[in-house]
Amino acid sequence: MTPFSTYDFKDRKAIVRVDFNVPLSKETFKITDDKRMQAALPTINKIISDGGSVILLSHLGRPKNGPENAFSLKHLCEHLSIISGAKVFFSPDCIGSQTEQAAKNLKGGEILLVENVRFYKEETKGDISFAQKLAKLGDCFVNDAFGTAHRAHSSTTQIAASFDNKDKMCGLLMDAEIESAKKVMEQTKRPFTAIVGGAKVSDKVLIVENLMKKADHIIIGGGMAYTFKKALGGNIGNSLCEDERIETCKTILENAAKKGVQIHLPIDSVIADTFSATAQTSIVNSADINEGWMGLDIGPKASKEFTAVIKASKTILWNGPMGVFEMGPFESGTKAIADAVANATQSGAYSLIGGGDSAAAAKKFGVVDRISHVSTGGGALLEYFEGKVLPGIAAIYQ
Ligand code: AMP
Repeated sequence: MTPFSTYDFKDRKAIVRVDFNVPLSKETFKITDDKRMQAALPTINKIISDGGSVILLSHLGRPKNGPENAFSLKHLCEHLSIISGAKVFFSPDCIGSQTEQAAKNLKGGEILLVENVRFYKEETKGDISFAQKLAKLGDCFVNDAFGTAHRAHSSTTQIAASFDNKDKMCGLLMDAEIESAKKVMEQTKRPFTAIVGGAKVSDKVLIVENLMKKADHIIIGGGMAYTFKKALGGNIGNSLCEDERIETCKTILENAAKKGVQIHLPIDSVIADTFSATAQTSIVNSADINEGWMGLDIGPKASKEFTAVIKASKTILWNGPMGVFEMGPFESGTKAIADAVANATQSGAYSLIGGGDSAAAAKKFGVVDRISHVSTGGGALLEYFEGKVLPGIAAIYQ
């Protein structure tokens, strides 16, 4: 594997797997958030400025049965040419002789965006011969799609086998994501605090168990905190609860105690009588919630305690909101955590925020610029922190 930054792309045709899975408006197919396209620009620009040409592979949405207009990458062409400043061609297929010819015709500095790789069912099956057909489009391969690095699909994983080690590499976005995740898990400055929130315990069990090997403190908020509270014998009223996970929560708490990892659960909560922004609310002890009421945010005492832990930390990982931050009455806890993480970062801590909802919260509360790294990867980042190997990255290093 050659480092991307030292590879000379002059007169090379670089196949770049990007994650252009952007949201499109249903009526006009206009891009409503181009964050993922912007994130791939540094990689595309480096290849172009070296004098190479770029063949872009991506998926868009989850097409079920072959080509579907709603999932066509042709809707992205115009915007791509605006933001890259390059001449962009579109191929209505991603493999085959016509696509190969279009790739061959590219001159240095030009881009060919090929149609959605998921229009072929072979893609998600990780079909090798489909990967080999994709590989014919260029003479080197760059994987810059961190968001799909946890998928062993043809265009993210199997394709790499068609290239010599010196001609396959991770792009700049992928490198930045890996470096950031390693700073948290491998070059950890202590104390290391992991903040885990969101709706369900079941989604986060593996991550909490794996983080226990590394973290000094684990803060648990959001809906998932109430299953832990119930496991400790608390009354949680109508708060979110996964009864089948109560034993898991007890085991996590026992293991944390044995390992000396401090688990912080919210001592108080903002409760509501309905799941609504206009509900009646009150602040109570989180283990003392009456029937008919549900905890929808951490309370002020919990915010204060969590803020103090975060302030004293040198490495911070945040995945999952502390409450239903989308509704005004239940946003305070998540906002307090966002501010605390940003302030700790300004005082020298390394912070990584990942997972769609926490990234959305960081944006809502205006702290993105004061965080060390906000990841583009939801599932991929979670799997990394669960301790799993990401096949898209492993394929480059094989
Ligand atoms: P996740 O995708 O698991 O990270 O969950 C994110 C969602 O959890 C957000 O949409 C929040 O509104 C929701 N959430 C956070 N706290 C609570 C809570 N206490 N009760 C219900 N939903 C919650």
